[in-house]
Amino acid sequence: MNCPWCEKEMQAGDVLCDGRSGVRFQPEGKKLTFMDSLSGIGVVTAAHMKWVRAQIPAHYCDRCGKMVIETKVSK
Ligand SMILES: [Zn+2]
Repeated sequence: MNCPWCEKEMQAGDVLCDGRSGVRFQPEGKKLTFMDSLSGIGVVTAAHMKWVRAQIPAHYCDRCGKMVIETKVSK
């Protein structure tokens, strides 16, 4: 998908959350390694979530630093 702010192509991937590594963005087709976790690669710095474990499909714009997640809120 294209970024709704700058209209450039966004990077598809998943937002991963776990208690040890925090919240990270894993680009589609790339598996974040343990070494990536240690060096902070993929860390979502604005996240303040304390989920035990989650994986959410998302698109990321490196230019804007914005992320769009696919979700449905239960009612
Ligand atoms: Zn953008």
